[in-house]
This record gives sequence, structure tokens and C-alpha cells, in this order.
Amino acid sequence: MTLEKTRTLLQDQLLGGGIRAALWQNVWDVRFGAPTIAGTLPCSCVTATNQHADRRCNSCYGINFQPGYTKFGFETIWFSSISPNLTLTNVYLNDILKPNRLELTQTATHGYIVTPDIPYVRSVTNLPWEYKVDYITKSASSAVQVAWSVDQGATWQPIEQLAGFNPISGKIRFKVSLTRTNVSIPSPSFEILRARFPRVGVTGRLGPWILVLKSISPDKLSEDLRGITIDSQSNNFWTAPLSFFDCGIPDQLGVGGEFNPGNLIADQAFIEFMDGVRQGPVDQRWSLVNNTYSEPFAYMTRQYFSARLQQEREYTSLVW
Ligand SMILES: [Zn+2]
Repeated sequence: MTLEKTRTLLQDQLLGGGIRAALWQNVWDVRFGAPTIAGTLPCSCVTATNQHADRRCNSCYGINFQPGYTKFGFETIWFSSISPNLTLTNVYLNDILKPNRLELTQTATHGYIVTPDIPYVRSVTNLPWEYKVDYITKSASSAVQVAWSVDQGATWQPIEQLAGFNPISGKIRFKVSLTRTNVSIPSPSFEILRARFPRVGVTGRLGPWILVLKSISPDKLSEDLRGITIDSQSNNFWTAPLSFFDCGIPDQLGVGGEFNPGNLIADQAFIEFMDGVRQGPVDQRWSLVNNTYSEPFAYMTRQYFSARLQQEREYTSLVW
């Protein structure tokens, strides 16, 4: 049997009984020392080269680079307090606190941040946009409101209606309004806005997620001070090269084909099960560890990982 057939059989198994899992991967690929998406920015929570990013930073989630993580199968648009080409009105960058945030100037009660037009193309239009805004208000007399426009700022809609209008391909710009009732009230501070839409449509079991199956791995016997111990790895899973789930990632096609590193799940990734026992009553996140793969004759047929349940207050719970 050829390896191509083997891989097809494995993919049939995934389609037949695989568990759906949403996947988040970090935007910095340590294998190449390069970002995995265009436009990443070194985070303002790191001011000196000998510092580490703050794990609980909403701008980078401890990855050092904004926007930290992206969700698999989605296109993510984002801008932060330190993004280039923002138009600021009565707003300045507070670079004393980390990460840096945009605040009202001392004498202002109203201020605006407007982004440039961001071009985007949607191939899947029957699934909605999603968004998340990170900001801080210290007083009930201050507020942060976000609006979007697809006609170069002629008309604006509140961000809450982004999914309702569900704009199709074009250009989008965002406007963040900071307000307070008087200047003695602490300014609200804006940090980062993320918006995304699915790039992979829903077809049967496939969609903007991956399918995984449990590995039936033999119990591992090892000898230590207690004698022979049995280690049964119960949370081992496998899945296909990622091009199987997202045709935007080049497929290796066959033995001898060029391998695109986007097929491998990047290190520092986590999943949320969408079906099955592990889905749980609340959304649980599982960190992927011990990632490995099989590639007979340099042809990648599948990849394996172990999953470790995240603790309740672990930083990945912040990731959107
Ligand atoms: Zn950061």
C-alpha cells in the first residue's frame, strides 16, 4: 500500500469518528524565529531585550509578539495601542505602564482612535464575524465604545452589530471612543481589538477546527525505586497534517512533495474540545505537549500530541 493511501485512510478515520477541537496556535514560530502571520508586533510589555513578556498580558498572552495567538481556520484582524498609522484625537500613549495603553490627554473628556482601512477577503460568508476588545475603565463615569465602518468612515456601526451586519469582503476601519464625564475622573485606557471571521466553511464534520482521535498507545513499563511501574498515557491524540483542514495551507500531495511547515501544529498551542467527554460543562482548554509526527520517506502522514488540562487560572484562559 502506498503512503498516500495510508494517509487517506487515516483521514477517513478522522472524518468517520474524529472529535472536533478548536485550535489556537501562537503567532511566533520558535523553529524559524519568525512570525506565523503577517503584521505581528513586538509587544509593549517587553521594554528591554533581557525581559520576558508578561504571561497575563492581553496584548500578547506572554508570546512577546502581538496578537499572541490566533484561532485555526479563522482570519484575524487586529490593532493595538502601539499599531502604526493610527489617527489619535485627544489621546496619547501612556508608556509608563506595561503594556502601553492609549488614554485621554489630561484636559480631554472625549477622544478617538481611528485605524486605517484594513483590507480583507472573505471566502466563507455564511458564518459570522467575532470580536473582542481589551480596555480598562476605572470609573463608571468613563467608557470605551468601538465602531466600525466599511465606507471609509462615512457611516459607523457599533461593534456589537458586526456579526449582525456581517460585512462581506472589502475594507474595514475601526474607531475607538474614550469618554469621561469630567477631567478629574481617571481616563479609560484602550489596549487591543481583535476581530475574526472563519476562513474554512462547514462541510459535514469539517469546519474552522481540527479533528482528533485518541491514540491507542501501549502502556509504558519502566523501572524505578518502587519496582516496575506502568505509565498509561491516556491523553494522547493524533490528527492529520493541517492542510487537510484548511486548504489555505499547501498540501505535501505525495512522497517527494514539498513540505509546508504550516502543516505542523506550532509549539505552544492549545485546543478546546467541541464534542465528546472532554468537552465538559464549561469550556476546558488543553495544552498540547510532546508534539511529534510520523514521516516515512519524508512524507508526513499524521501528527501526535499529548493534551494537558489547563488549570483554572492559567494564562491561556485569557486567550480569545
Ligand atoms: Zn505583552
